[in-house]
Amino acid sequence: MSQLSRLEIVIAGGGTAGWVAAATFARFLDNRASITLVESDEIGTVGVGEATIPQIHNLIIGLGLDQAEFVRRTNATFKLGIEFDGWTGQGRSYMHSFGQTGRQVGLIPFRQLWLRGRSLGVAQEFGAYGFNIAAARLGRMATNTASNTVPELIYAYHFDASLFAKMLRDYAEERGVRRVEGRILDVERDGEDGDVTALTLNGERRVQGTFFIDCTGFRSLLVGKTLDVPYLDWSRWLPCDSALAVACKSSDAFRPYTQALSRPSGWQWRIPLQHRTGNGHVYCSKFMSDDEAASTLLANLDGAPLGDPRPIRFTSGRREKFWSHNCLALGLAAGFMEPLESTAIHLVQSALGRFLNLLPGDLSRTDSARDYFNRLSTIEWARVRDFIALHYFANEREGEFWELCRNMELPDTLLEKISLFREAGLVIREDEELFLDDSWGQVMIGQGIMPESWSPLADNVPGEDIGPFLDSVAKSYRVKTKSLPTHRQFVASLVGDKVKEHQ
Ligand SMILES: Cc1cc2nc3c(=O)[nH]c(=O)nc-3n(C[C@H](O)[C@H](O)[C@H](O)COP(=O)(O)OP(=O)(O)OC[C@H]3O[C@@H](n4cnc5c(N)ncnc54)[C@H](O)[C@@H]3O)c2cc1C
Repeated sequence: MSQLSRLEIVIAGGGTAGWVAAATFARFLDNRASITLVESDEIGTVGVGEATIPQIHNLIIGLGLDQAEFVRRTNATFKLGIEFDGWTGQGRSYMHSFGQTGRQVGLIPFRQLWLRGRSLGVAQEFGAYGFNIAAARLGRMATNTASNTVPELIYAYHFDASLFAKMLRDYAEERGVRRVEGRILDVERDGEDGDVTALTLNGERRVQGTFFIDCTGFRSLLVGKTLDVPYLDWSRWLPCDSALAVACKSSDAFRPYTQALSRPSGWQWRIPLQHRTGNGHVYCSKFMSDDEAASTLLANLDGAPLGDPRPIRFTSGRREKFWSHNCLALGLAAGFMEPLESTAIHLVQSALGRFLNLLPGDLSRTDSARDYFNRLSTIEWARVRDFIALHYFANEREGEFWELCRNMELPDTLLEKISLFREAGLVIREDEELFLDDSWGQVMIGQGIMPESWSPLADNVPGEDIGPFLDSVAKSYRVKTKSLPTHRQFVASLVGDKVKEHQ
């Protein structure tokens, strides 16, 4: 009999992380493990986290969810990328879009042809060659199910995080996950090996298990408080420590992308959903008071606010170990990197994938799996941290906060990436890092880090052919984009009239 029959998984916490974990285990461990989730209605969830990256499809497809139903139930819209506004000065913006910019020619990366075209004076701005960008700017959206004549747009979703958690809860409970409502008062450990053995809840209840998933949010009750795994503070690279979140009425714009609008001491997000727009102001409390931050946010909403801004404090960083003893931390309990590139939910799914792939047959021998898991996760988190820090470092905004960011001492891994890029626009993906070379390229160029030269590979194309090639790429995307439905029409095609009611 499989050792998994001895696996009694207890998930502490029912925010997005807890329910993603519950649904994933229910789907992939089927009935070979018992799964219990404990959550407290009284404590509630952090209640933000509405933008995703395309890897969310791995979760949706992995769980076998239907896209239209998902879009309908979570009030989702589509996301083609993130527009960064004002990060290199007032009135300037660029987009970090999903997918590839332009078209590679044989082995020659598109960015190299663009750099050469730029030196010949025949290239437009880099963003002019992005299909996702062309569609985003015109407010168009389609997937290949709606039109087979266009190359697929690479997309993610914006959704209502609480509705998503609810959908996953239904999914998990239908597949046998037991939900226990209650407040965790204590965590019991084995006197010999220190493993967690049970959670003690109010009402003198006890939930015991053989493996525990800490999804208790910033509290990190198991891995942080009980197992005492230290927290590594990354605020010297990610200096913002506060956020205010407020929803407002939907605007007419209904953009198929997130906006990240720079502000005097941070930035503001705008996330359009079907029924409302999610907004937030992420800022550094050393440079801005909460009152100033709230006024800045409220003065820059697209529609009437639907409540008061809700404050959230955080320290960007991570637990020194994600998996300690028989306990795995996920979501905010594992750490948090501020939401500039919408990476948090992805880190939950990727950790779950890694964990399931490393689950040994013999559960008494998890040491190697645990070490390997922690090592790979450490690399993954550091690369994401570098990518976000790049936006802050390479800014061209005025003001004390932004000056501090420009002068920060960078991690060696990021310094190396920037030097390589400055030389000839080179980026090579390392260690299965999350962001691919085109993402690094878009953000480097968008933030004003311009390569001094290009790879000799680009010299394989005759100079006189470069301009016409670049023009044909940009034109083809413009033409294809015009044939697409508007974002609103496309969402309405999935959810019916529901989206129109909110206009
Ligand atoms: C400002 C901000 C913006 C964000 N934006 C994005 C984004 O755009 N995209 C993205 O991917 N992510 C984003 N995130 C991250 C995202 O919100 C979280 O990763 C996600 O919600 C997961 O949270 P969680 O489940 O770990 O924690 P929480 O939502 O805080 O859930 C914690 C759970 O633990 C339970 N709990 C805690 N203590 C106890 C106890 N004593 N007893 C019983 N239960 C307990 C609570 O009841 C709750 O169910 C953002 C985060 C912040 C702070």
